[in-house]
Amino acid sequence: MSLAEVIDTKALAQAVRAQAAGEVAQLKAEHGIQPGLAVVLVGEDPASQVYVRSKGEQSREAGMHSETHLLPADTAQEDLLALVEQLNEDPKIHGILVQMPLPRHINEKMILAAIDPNKDVDGLHVVNAGLLASGMPALIPCTPLGCMLVLRQTLGDLAGKRAVVVGRSVLVGRPIAQLLLQADCTVTIAHSRTVDLPGVCREADILVAAVGRPQMIKGDWIKPGATVIDVGINRVPFRDPVKAAAGKTKLVGDVAFKEAEKVAAYITPVPGGIGPMTVACLLANTVTAAKRINGLDG
Ligand code: NDP
Repeated sequence: MSLAEVIDTKALAQAVRAQAAGEVAQLKAEHGIQPGLAVVLVGEDPASQVYVRSKGEQSREAGMHSETHLLPADTAQEDLLALVEQLNEDPKIHGILVQMPLPRHINEKMILAAIDPNKDVDGLHVVNAGLLASGMPALIPCTPLGCMLVLRQTLGDLAGKRAVVVGRSVLVGRPIAQLLLQADCTVTIAHSRTVDLPGVCREADILVAAVGRPQMIKGDWIKPGATVIDVGINRVPFRDPVKAAAGKTKLVGDVAFKEAEKVAAYITPVPGGIGPMTVACLLANTVTAAKRINGLDG
């Protein structure tokens, strides 16, 4: 039995980062513009701390101006709004990313709405969501953008393919579906109320899992020869009772990988598949924002 090709996204993520670094150098040399990214973290969620550190390091490595604003968990909403306003006005900053989730006392929608859409490098402002849905140039959420780069590299032209996206979040499921539609796929968006989810998934030439449920999508839900993009990142205890008792955990995706690789033609791993693409695309988005803000194409 031949196993699916595990898509190696490392080289692609590296290429996206290198392209961003090259454009940063060019913007500095030709226009005196240094793209700037501000990342804001409220609270001390360990996973968010890791993501924020990585975003800061990679933006600096790409030659960007990089700021990380670490605020205590009890920061008042007005204070966070004031910081967003300050970053909106700051000419050194072209991209603003407020790390989600925010503490419960802060209204996430209100914070996202306060970010200048031209600096919204996470692509979550309703203006960018609307532009994307209208097929107009938008800042596109980083994870969906990364998924599309992986799919194009793996499959080339996507026109006519049947795509099923499991998950309809504003962050992942919806924008991926919009991008697949723009690429002329025939798209189904499935969610928690979908009837016969396994049957719907089995129709997919391209199956994107963005659910947040460990290994929910089984091997026999997958059409033989399909391409499987596993966006999910779930932390679970080890099966090994000794490791589990020691409180050790590991990361798994939304797809039961061992079963799926026996059926699919291509599959992304977790960890190491879509995750690295997300940060690389954040750099690309920051360059795009810096160009557009300065009236250069992008
Ligand atoms: P959300 O919780 O916002 O959305 C989950 C979606 O899955 C919802 O639309 C929900 O449906 C659907 N869903 C939940 N349970 C089921 C079910 N049993 N059957 C079918 N559909 C179901 O999650 P996100 O979209 O933010 O994230 C999804 C996953 O992707 C998470 O594991 C997250 O950690 C990961 N992620 C990974 C990133 C990366 O860089 N690789 C970046 C961002 C997220 P309904 O709308 O009906 O409730």
